[in-house]
Amino acid sequence: MTKPVVAIVGRPNVGKSTIFNRLAGERISIVEDIPGVTRDRIYSSAEWLNFDFNIIDTGGIDIGDEPFIEQIRHQAEIAIEEADVIIFMTNGRDGITASDEEVAKILYRSKKPVVLAVNKVDNPEMRDQIYDFYGLGFGEPFPISGTHGLGLGDMLDAVAAHFPKDLVEDYDDEIIRFSLIGRPNVGKSSLVNAILGEDRVIVSDIAGTTRDAIDTEYQFNGQDYVIIDTAGMRKKGKVYESTEKYSVLRALKAIDRSDVVLVVINAEEGIIEQDKKIAGYAHDAGRAIVIVVNKWDTIHKDEKTMRDFEQKIRDHFLFLDYAPIVFLSAKTKKRMHTLLPMIGLASENHSLRVQTNILNDVIMDAVAMNPTPTSNGSRLKIYYATQVAVKPPAFAIFVNDPELMHFSYERFLENRIRDAFGFEGTPIKIFARSRK
Ligand code: GDP
Ligand code: GDP
Repeated sequence: MTKPVVAIVGRPNVGKSTIFNRLAGERISIVEDIPGVTRDRIYSSAEWLNFDFNIIDTGGIDIGDEPFIEQIRHQAEIAIEEADVIIFMTNGRDGITASDEEVAKILYRSKKPVVLAVNKVDNPEMRDQIYDFYGLGFGEPFPISGTHGLGLGDMLDAVAAHFPKDLVEDYDDEIIRFSLIGRPNVGKSSLVNAILGEDRVIVSDIAGTTRDAIDTEYQFNGQDYVIIDTAGMRKKGKVYESTEKYSVLRALKAIDRSDVVLVVINAEEGIIEQDKKIAGYAHDAGRAIVIVVNKWDTIHKDEKTMRDFEQKIRDHFLFLDYAPIVFLSAKTKKRMHTLLPMIGLASENHSLRVQTNILNDVIMDAVAMNPTPTSNGSRLKIYYATQVAVKPPAFAIFVNDPELMHFSYERFLENRIRDAFGFEGTPIKIFARSRK
């Protein structure tokens, strides 16, 4: 589960986000058709040949109203702090600029391995121009072209050569790993403390399992859990913590290591855009999700309050219609007991496997009820379906032509599968495959 982290650093316009998007490939927002989910990704899992890693586009980290050079500097510092390997990106058409040298100065001071990429080398004749870049002092420059996808293999070989060898996940599959995400002050730390209240057996408390979270392993009712807590680490640094996107970055890394993500909302303040963005990442990453409405004690309630609040959440988080909602107070502990069973349920559904014959009955009934779509005179034919993965559950549906599977029909099938099997708390994925 723990994957190396690669950060791309460099001044604006050298092509960082182009390369990021290329490496992140189709992992970038799988829910683009659904409103409310961000597209400006700065963090993604990535895959290149046999390398699996996470990638950060530091150019997307918004530092605020700082002078240009300060922004680049901060982005480089974040890369040094967060990444296992840094790709220092430059532009072969411009040669070495003063800003490149600024970035280089910061990177010299770190002990993190740096791979120097010279982008926009779109054709082989331009390769002669890259020798100047030895002058930056990071060894061999790798000529690449983000637009044409050239040279990336050699560059990534160099990156992968620096991957740490000891990145083994230290938890077995039976353990439920969960994290809490949400804006500052929604009550994440308070919730962690409330969860770890008197009657839990704390197995171990490991700071530094990763650099940016405290993992607490504990047992409750015979089940092992690990809380991946980034909130507690929040007050550590100065520079980084002042930027909103940086704490987001931390949350994203925690999401990556979790089975279940608790999206924490402050009942007092309601929902804002930032809540949606973070929840969108958890959804895209395929994690189980429970929505936690904290500070419920501060709300003046009547018999309709909870229902109304739930409706508001449903309206805002259309893409999270599967996520259960719990209302509680970390402060008074009221309804705290409802949380762990919900985490358990979401986790169970996240790794649920259904029987193939029952799945196919469900799909065939669905098709009988709502005929498959047609396009240019061809009708989608569904032959059979099978579950191909868990965490999250994923289904391959074998068809005559995957192009004929429209989003709306896929959504319909998803709803039928959910009606039949539940899957409360977990996203599910459906892939149309050609039967060949
Ligand atoms: P960033 O600011 O470093 O993230 O840079 P972008 O990825 O936004 O790219 C800046 C501009 O350079 C865009 O217009 C890209 O289309 C262009 N660009 C990116 N990679 C290449 C490349 O390999 N060759 C050429 N010719 N242009 C590129
Ligand atoms: P974090 O930034 O998300 O980790 O939030 P904290 O756990 O530090 O909590 C922020 C503030 O909200 C603190 O003053 C807490 O005492 C308060 N708080 C947390 N949970 C509750 C709650 O359930 N009810 C009330 N009234 N206050 C709470």
